[in-house]
Amino acid sequence: SIVERLSEPHSGPVPFSVEFFPPRDEAAEERLWRAVRVFERMHPAFVSMTYGAGGSTRDRTARITGQLERETTLLPVAHLTAVNHSVDELRAMVGTYADQGISNILALRGDPPGDPLGDWHRHPQGVAYAEDLVRLVRDLGDFHVGVASFPEGHHRSPDLEHDTRQLVAKLRAGAEYSITQMFFDVEFYLRLRDRLVAADPEQGAKPLIPGIMPVTSLATVRRMVELSGASIPADVERRLVHAAGDGPEEDRQAVRAVGIDLATEMSQRLIAEGVPSLHFCSMNFAKATSEVLERLGMDVLVA
Ligand code: FAD
Repeated sequence: SIVERLSEPHSGPVPFSVEFFPPRDEAAEERLWRAVRVFERMHPAFVSMTYGAGGSTRDRTARITGQLERETTLLPVAHLTAVNHSVDELRAMVGTYADQGISNILALRGDPPGDPLGDWHRHPQGVAYAEDLVRLVRDLGDFHVGVASFPEGHHRSPDLEHDTRQLVAKLRAGAEYSITQMFFDVEFYLRLRDRLVAADPEQGAKPLIPGIMPVTSLATVRRMVELSGASIPADVERRLVHAAGDGPEEDRQAVRAVGIDLATEMSQRLIAEGVPSLHFCSMNFAKATSEVLERLGMDVLVA
């Protein structure tokens, strides 16, 4: 399981993991496999594959996660969302994962397709919350389940206390760990950890894995932040905007350098604060994440 993996010996100060998304076409899939092979040499504790809204992307998540399970030395986690799925379809998808040899699932509610911040409608025969999905998956067999957590609070939570209660509920329902939404201010993570431990020490002891995005494009990070309801602190934004320059196109090289500095600084602070591991949103590229890992002292070239 993921929790066991996090306690195994690892190179560098803490274990790390990597998030991928299902590639759209053959060229993108080749690029993903190149990144996978690079990461494989760096021994991540696990890798995860996100789950989209359409049928074909969902099939790709299952197929590629299955290939990761069978054809690599990596431990894959398949994401699963409740969007547009009846309970029967969710059961079938979990069955497909099991057939692929996948036993680690990240249970999510998902966002409305098209407009992530728009109204969420439960499928008439579906589930309403990730908490219900955790129970459903656990009832289906010997699966290890993780959930999402939100250092700045989920955008639909009326306040942070409500948000923390729902996270505790997901963990009590049987989730073994959570992975946070990306954030750019370590304080948000630390406050969530404090709230969680105060709300329920037993659940608060489960790994709260920080999600880190090494920024390589100002435009991309702005869009992602907008879609997720997370925020960029003013000083971080200033550094990125300064690097982007005032030309018609952002200076990608300079933004990338600052993005790697920021991810390294945040990771160092998180390590000093005793995090169980670091989870990197790779965007299916190995380079930025491995640069951060190298700067953190991970022996990234070890075969
Ligand atoms: P929930 O835990 O169900 O929470 C949703 C909202 O409902 C919250 O505001 C919560 O406070 C509230 N709530 C929960 N339970 C109750 C209750 N019993 N009563 C009242 N209110 C309640 N999306 C994808 O589409 N595919 C992915 O692969 C994907 N991967 C992700 C990975 C990570 C690490 C993270 C952080 C997010 C990911 N997402 C993904 C996005 C996620 O699906 C959305 O953020 C979604 O809006 C919330 O999902 P959740 O699982 O946290 O939902």
